[in-house]
Amino acid sequence: MLNSRLSAVESASKHLFNEITEVNADRGVHIYNKNVFSTQKMKDYLPKETYERLQATIDSGGKIPRELAEYIAQAMKTWALENGATHYSHWFQPLTGTTAEKHDAFFEPDGSGGAIEKFNANALVQQEPDASSFPHGGIRNTFEARGYTAWDPSSPAFIFETGAGKTLCIPTVFVSYTGEALDYKAPLLKSTAAIDKAATDVAQYFDKSVSKVNVSLGIEQEYFLVDLSLYNARPDLKMTGRTLFGHMSAKGQQLDDHYFGAIPERVLAYMVDLENEALKLGIPLKTRHNEVAPSQYECAPMFEESNLAIDHNQMLMNLMEQVAVRHNFRVLLHEKPYSGVNGSGKHNNWSLVTNTGINLLSPGKTPKNNLMFLTFFVNTIKAVHTHADLLRASIASHSNDHRLGANEAPPAIISIFLGSQLDEILEEVESARVVKKVKAEANLWHGIPKIPDLKRDNTDRNRTSPFAFTGNKFEFRAVGSSANSALPMTVLNAIVAKQLIEFKTEVDKQIKKGTKKDLAILNVVRKYIKESKAIRFEGNGYSEEWEKEAEARGLSNIKSTPKALDVYLTPSSLRLFESLGIYTQRESIARHEILLENFYKKMQIEARVLGDMVTSQIAPACFIYQNELIENVRGLKELGLGKESYSSQFNYLERISKHVNHILEKAEEMRQARKKANIITDMREKAIAYDETVKPFFDEIRYDVNKLEKIVDDSRWPLPKLRELLFSH
Ligand code: ADP
Ligand code: MG
Repeated sequence: MLNSRLSAVESASKHLFNEITEVNADRGVHIYNKNVFSTQKMKDYLPKETYERLQATIDSGGKIPRELAEYIAQAMKTWALENGATHYSHWFQPLTGTTAEKHDAFFEPDGSGGAIEKFNANALVQQEPDASSFPHGGIRNTFEARGYTAWDPSSPAFIFETGAGKTLCIPTVFVSYTGEALDYKAPLLKSTAAIDKAATDVAQYFDKSVSKVNVSLGIEQEYFLVDLSLYNARPDLKMTGRTLFGHMSAKGQQLDDHYFGAIPERVLAYMVDLENEALKLGIPLKTRHNEVAPSQYECAPMFEESNLAIDHNQMLMNLMEQVAVRHNFRVLLHEKPYSGVNGSGKHNNWSLVTNTGINLLSPGKTPKNNLMFLTFFVNTIKAVHTHADLLRASIASHSNDHRLGANEAPPAIISIFLGSQLDEILEEVESARVVKKVKAEANLWHGIPKIPDLKRDNTDRNRTSPFAFTGNKFEFRAVGSSANSALPMTVLNAIVAKQLIEFKTEVDKQIKKGTKKDLAILNVVRKYIKESKAIRFEGNGYSEEWEKEAEARGLSNIKSTPKALDVYLTPSSLRLFESLGIYTQRESIARHEILLENFYKKMQIEARVLGDMVTSQIAPACFIYQNELIENVRGLKELGLGKESYSSQFNYLERISKHVNHILEKAEEMRQARKKANIITDMREKAIAYDETVKPFFDEIRYDVNKLEKIVDDSRWPLPKLRELLFSH
């Protein structure tokens, strides 16, 4: 009988020849938004006057009155039933990092033997899922236990298809009865309101017609695909999303051949299927390509308003998993599924766009427009400089720690790459002599160089920067591939909003003292350029020299999550979030605790899986092979052969014994360390204990297991090897 690995390898090779599922004839534009209760559908299903009232309410961000909600509920129901939906669900993003749904049937017995289909404004607007099973960070212990979900009319309802099941999903926020947010969406919406207000106020210096500023967001999603059977034979992948062992295959990414290679047929079939499913849900997937590591890929939609972009990314991650199984794949969204090859990120392309259609981070043609561009550009840089630690915290998770700050990963330092052209322009603005009192308007503009057309090529060369300016947007690349982007975007919106408010205060002060508006703006912009210089870095962000230089510049480099999260609780962070109406202090404290809890729990699972695999899979395979070697030596001896004939076997036996003893001992020590950590009650101390006393065993044990993988008989090895996982399709 084949062992679990070899039978997995065998079925994986069969999957290669799987009939490619027939691609739906309905594609592209024909299916876009098919399963979305879009603006157009609302128009079709609502009386004209009702539709117009609804749009006006959504645009103004106001509350939707009950009787209007009733109309919408009826229209939504009609549309959903016509399209085969049988259930509806409030769809939300609890702090577990996934999405949650609780399905209710439209069906309701009518009391006289028949049944009707029922859905009304109450069901649309508010629901009460049992909040006790979601993370709440102590909020529930002291307050009301129940939570409720409330409709977010700014993100359209959609029908999610799972096999034959069709469910009408209504995007909602998730809040406790005492009003604290228990999800990612509620604070995100508050942060977009905060930055809207702050950015609109500043944009009005330049253009009085601006009355709203939206955050635009395009999320590139990196991922790995692995064959389903091979995945099933790896408990570590199944339980933790990453391989805890695995000797690096002889060929990895060193030839750089994957990035430029053709997309394998089996993978392309997956991508086409995924794109179709995504389009139906209104997710505008545009690009697909191979990534650097073998079996690593990327997809990216066209950018959208940030709340929608984030909902879409959460839906996309669900779809990716669902569609993968149809193709006998599993998708790995973990930041570092394999040691030795690149990890995966989720690049958040972020910009600010006015209601008049102007991208505030797009350099203009005239000096006056450029002052507006420079204002938002420099304020963002200043915000990132001042609050780099908050941004670092916003992307901290147990899995992203492997991608940033770990031994084979780039350092966890936040810096900004601008590209040489813009870097020079900022130098120029900073050093230009600006006439103190502007007599002629023309004199002022000497301080502002003309900004040439920024060719993408010139701005996008540096792939090592965690935060890069790429032509007309900033790209936050340190976000982890499995993360919900709402948290990093909430923090980014918050710090930029805060910065813009400060900026306006400073400029207004100067204006009050008699400085002309444009000069006042330029003065503060120049001051900010000077103050935020340390965060700008054009070199190789992955290098050791950068780590040293960053330290000299006073930039922080916090390697692990539990410590990176500390910044959420500093008085200035608490005040920042509270003053912007994003998190109350209680919410900040609760969130901090949830993040720590997630961190240690994930690590606890890893430690358990690792221990189990060592004792129940790896050590036994080694023992069997050892016995075979012993048998071999015994036989040779019996034949009367001398020591030299079995010296290699001896040597192997010794090495195997040494490594096996080591992993078993270390697994036991790790268990003891875990027991000690488990009794710590303070969440931060507990997370640190896991990080500092449990986690180090992972690499120690991995080292010996990888040695064993190299010497134990290939046919005895129980776990699919990296060469199989990475090169199976
Ligand atoms: P690359 O891999 O070179 O960074 P991609 O085309 O894969 O480029 O991704 C770029 C992402 O940035 C896309 O999602 C795109 O829609 C988005 N994007 C482009 N312009 C803006 C903008 N003004 N605001 C936000 N996102 C943008
Ligand atoms: Mg990119």
